Amino acid sequence: MKSKVIVALDFASENHLISFVDRVDPELCGLKIGKELFTALGPRPVEMLVKKGFSVFLDLKYHDIPNTVERACAAARDLGVWMVNVHALGGAEMIQAARSGLGNAPNRSLLTAVTILTSMDAAGLRTIGFNLEPVEMVKRLACLAQKSGADGVVCSANEAKELNILFGENFIKVTPGIRPSGSPTDDQKRIMTPSEAMEQGADYLVIGRPITQAQDPVSVLTSVIRDIDNSV
Ligand code: C5P
Repeated sequence: MKSKVIVALDFASENHLISFVDRVDPELCGLKIGKELFTALGPRPVEMLVKKGFSVFLDLKYHDIPNTVERACAAARDLGVWMVNVHALGGAEMIQAARSGLGNAPNRSLLTAVTILTSMDAAGLRTIGFNLEPVEMVKRLACLAQKSGADGVVCSANEAKELNILFGENFIKVTPGIRPSGSPTDDQKRIMTPSEAMEQGADYLVIGRPITQAQDPVSVLTSVIRDIDNSV
């Protein structure tokens, strides 16, 4: 994918989806389909977007027994998605199975692993029995993901620089929590502007509401791309 921007399509109506994608050129951005849209509308929109030439990130964060995850990843591969993800907390065997489900074709779908959700803090981790600080958990899970064959991780841009040092620049960092300067933060807590995130070493920026809820989504998208281009 040429663009560094992945737009999160967090809505559940087909009309909303179509009115957005009809205005956007596949050269400008990738598109992320998550649990809301997939649960409401199923795999058809994924096929439709792939057919239109978009790079689709299927963000269903699989976390199940290895066999189930392998088969889910094979089904995602058959839809033609550009990237699919799992929860690294599913463990090495599950991540390896996910990777095996994607096959080895030259243009195979990429596999990323979610480390620790950015909605989790140290206190939240303790309630589920993890006593490490979130950043230590992120590093441990990123290491597990890399050793198990993942192409990269979904993480906060705050962690991208350290992950680059530890795991190399080829290990993909997909970062949500991005806000162009002046945009409302919504429910995101630790935000960065597109250029700041790129400077931290992020590879792809996931941006939802600042683009999808804008009066003129294409103009916000192009100004984000300009901001990124000026920063690299
Ligand atoms: O609208 P906004 O830019 O906040 O959307 C961010 C997208 O990234 C949402 O689809 C959200 O589910 C996803 N995401 C996130 N934080 C994570 C993982 C995924 O915001 N840690």
